[in-house]
Amino acid sequence: MKGAIKIGRIAGIEISVHYTWILAFLLFTWLLASAFFPQSYPNWSAAAYWITGALAALLLFISVLIHEIAHSLVAKARGLPVKGITLFIFGGVSNIESEPDKPKVEFAMSIVGPLSSLVLAGILYGIFLLVPAQDSPLGAILRYLAIANAWLAAFNILPGFPLDGGRVLRSIIWGATGNLVRATNIATTVGQVFAWLFIGFGVFQLLAGNFLGGLWIAIIGWFQWRR
Ligand SMILES: [Zn+2]
Repeated sequence: MKGAIKIGRIAGIEISVHYTWILAFLLFTWLLASAFFPQSYPNWSAAAYWITGALAALLLFISVLIHEIAHSLVAKARGLPVKGITLFIFGGVSNIESEPDKPKVEFAMSIVGPLSSLVLAGILYGIFLLVPAQDSPLGAILRYLAIANAWLAAFNILPGFPLDGGRVLRSIIWGATGNLVRATNIATTVGQVFAWLFIGFGVFQLLAGNFLGGLWIAIIGWFQWRR
């Protein structure tokens, strides 16, 4: 991806950050520090909201990175060359150089992302329950990340090709029919329908007064439709 800076390697996978990621980081920090945390925890200091907001936003993107690493590790284990992972404004992408040649490989490679987010959500929620002061910034971050990871799992398992769920759907149709072209066509059509549902829902939210949330959902839908 053009405009991305390499920040390091994890398990032999090159990790890069695209400049648009900074915008997402600032936006999430601002939303968390000025709205989400003050609404749920009204008694903190201003500094506590901003530090907790920035930390939670950073950890959210580390969660996205873990999700992508899961995809890349399974791809590598099945012999597919992985160029690296790039974090950008809408999350993360794994740059896997070739397409899987068997439906089973695509299925494993795709489902492991949402599964890892779901497991992470469970672990974080478990730790949250063990924290003595659940209203403290630590408790708040754990709770927020548990919810965010559960959403990440739920969003990615939607059958909107090329989201993970769309790839899972394609691999199942591919496995059942033995026809990759037909499976791709069906998964793409379902994906387009989901993209339009996203755009429609986003516009509806926007008109209902949820401006930022609505705009965000509509842009994600548009981004997915364009692919
Ligand atoms: Zn994924």
